[in-house]
Amino acid sequence: MLKIAFHPIYKHPLPEGHRFPMLKYELLPEQLIYEGTCTAANFFEPTVPDDAPILRVHTSEYFNHLKNLTLDAKAVRKIGFPLSDMLVKREVMIADGTMKASEYALKYGIAMNIAGGTHHAYADSGEGFCILNDQAIGARYLQDKGLAKKILIVDLDVHQGNGTAKIFQNDPSVFTFSMHGKANYPFKKEQSDLDIALENGCEDDTYLSILTDTLPKLIAAEQPDFIYYLSGVDVIASDKLGKLSLSIEGCKARDRYVLQTCKDYSIPVMCSMGGGYSPDIKIIIEAHANTFRLAQELYF
Ligand SMILES: [Zn+2]
Repeated sequence: MLKIAFHPIYKHPLPEGHRFPMLKYELLPEQLIYEGTCTAANFFEPTVPDDAPILRVHTSEYFNHLKNLTLDAKAVRKIGFPLSDMLVKREVMIADGTMKASEYALKYGIAMNIAGGTHHAYADSGEGFCILNDQAIGARYLQDKGLAKKILIVDLDVHQGNGTAKIFQNDPSVFTFSMHGKANYPFKKEQSDLDIALENGCEDDTYLSILTDTLPKLIAAEQPDFIYYLSGVDVIASDKLGKLSLSIEGCKARDRYVLQTCKDYSIPVMCSMGGGYSPDIKIIIEAHANTFRLAQELYF
């Protein structure tokens, strides 16, 4: 069965007028149930995890500042959200969702989180709307439990996975692959194990030919026993922050290729949603829903 992490706290509204779109976290599960892609049985609710797995990735100093709401103003501005108890609780629960979804992926081949993909979070700081790095926490969690040895992170959000790259920079047990917009945030990029920087306006054909040329070679070379997929839909042309020009069908073809490849190689995959900032919420929901529809279609 497809298991998807979701908790009502994901919808936690930011102060009125905040530019980060939270609405998708509310509408996406509703859409998946409404159209029959999922039933309530597909969803599970994460809880507040122990600190220990979070502290395997994040420094205790940073995490304590988050929990006590004592992060300095400059550090909060970099994150982009006003900090609150609810927001920090939301973040740790999303990380718990990714850890639990990682275990479900081992059982069912694939599992997902209706949030996460917070790849701009570093060990000791947050930025770009990312506070805790959920897939990094998930990767360490699986390794610590002896459930995975070699992990591949496939980060196809349009923004570079700078936090993830830095966290695993000197760690050969986690291979970080980021395909992103060259001229896009973050402007000071970190070095992933493999970075592919795309020009503005990159369209479906170019994008898909690079991806299909790269991913099988990476899997053959690195032999991962677990894959994290960051399926941000901010690659599509209508995205406010994206600068690339994929169609919604191209974005779906991307997801299909990644998920089918994981299945063909029998490598469990955990998907976090990542970004999506089209002005029309319907496009965001449709593009994210495609990832979940494909998971059902290809695996179950
Ligand atoms: Zn993004």
